[in-house]
Amino acid sequence: IHCSLFTEEFKMHHNQEEQSVNQMSAQPEPALHGDSNSDPLTDQQPPAYSKVEFKRHAVTDDYKITSQVLGLGINGKVLECYCKKTGEKCALKILYDTLKARREVELHCRVSGGPHIVRILSLYENMHQGKKCLLIIMECMEGGELFSRIQARGTRPSQREVGHKASEIMHDIGMAIEFLHHMDIAHRDVKPENLLYTTKDSNATLTLTDFGFAKETTLHNSLQTPATLPTMLPLKCLGQRNMTNHVTCGPWALCGFPPFYSNTGQAISPGMKQRIRLGQYEFPNPEWADVSEEAKQLIVQLLKTDPNERMTIGQFMNHPWISQSMVVPPTPLHTSRVLTEDKELWDDVKEEMTSALATMRVDYDQVKIKDLDTSNNPLLNKRRQRPVPGGAEKGGE
Ligand code: ADP
Repeated sequence: IHCSLFTEEFKMHHNQEEQSVNQMSAQPEPALHGDSNSDPLTDQQPPAYSKVEFKRHAVTDDYKITSQVLGLGINGKVLECYCKKTGEKCALKILYDTLKARREVELHCRVSGGPHIVRILSLYENMHQGKKCLLIIMECMEGGELFSRIQARGTRPSQREVGHKASEIMHDIGMAIEFLHHMDIAHRDVKPENLLYTTKDSNATLTLTDFGFAKETTLHNSLQTPATLPTMLPLKCLGQRNMTNHVTCGPWALCGFPPFYSNTGQAISPGMKQRIRLGQYEFPNPEWADVSEEAKQLIVQLLKTDPNERMTIGQFMNHPWISQSMVVPPTPLHTSRVLTEDKELWDDVKEEMTSALATMRVDYDQVKIKDLDTSNNPLLNKRRQRPVPGGAEKGGE
């Protein structure tokens, strides 16, 4: 019912705005992603991404919106829809028109041609329930969410298959994050619900979506140089820098639970923060017993508490377990068993990750404010350069 009302409303709005619709449709179609033949990471020039353009006629003119829910997020349902012209199955995400929503759309568009990133196909500005909304039409990721797939496997898949999968998953996430860093964007919400497979096939591509918490990192940080490694990373807020996004997903993907886990039921308990800061964690058996030393060493490098020691995204991509992910020895994993033995555990893990990421983002912002005050405040710098009134010209300490 909700969906059909929704469709109706778009139609009504369209009729009311016939005038502007005609004007808008006379404009050229926006090209939202880069040239599909170019490789954004190796090409000398970064791909040319067009600026965000919204169509203002009703989305229902171009797409048939179904009541099929592809997934639920904090902003509501993502619905299956079909392009009327081509019949292509797509996904529709609806956001109320706010500054935050515009930033999400803008950043997602900017990276929408990149490797292992969900593509945006079209954007609309429509009225819904009396409110202006932004509508994002994306490619439909028919393979669903990352962990649903691992979970759905249920009983033991072949060890070779799982071993390959674990390193390939990390490789694909790394590709997406490397590209984002290259574009000076930190995603800040890399978690299994935001990692979707293109199709249900075993050779499907894993792609990253949901730029609702993404941030540009050009102002006071650059994600490129290890020395200034900003710190989009969740863990960086706890006293660390570098390689933020990987840390959250990697260890979880490997064994089914995070290396840091709260004993108190809080997202991040004070004790847990302390353990993360001090780098106190272990790889308990039996879950980690069969994970290769190489993979464990990689995790150790990602969780280094000293930012200068922590791996950069480039080093991560060059690590043999990642760069040779197609041929590394298979790692038998317990993720699927851990998650299927106790279904509630999975919901807990998801919840834990979501709150942990939220806490880390808040911490990060607070850390940044401090940094700016102390290290990069232009007014402060100016003051420091001014001669001290009444003081000696030189060496007036
Ligand atoms: P929110 O910002 O509200 O959390 P998301 O963008 O994370 O929304 O989408 C919510 C869920 O919808 C995802 O976890 C996923 O299951 C599903 N989803 C999102 N985008 C697509 C897509 N392009 N194709 C298929 N399913 C999608």
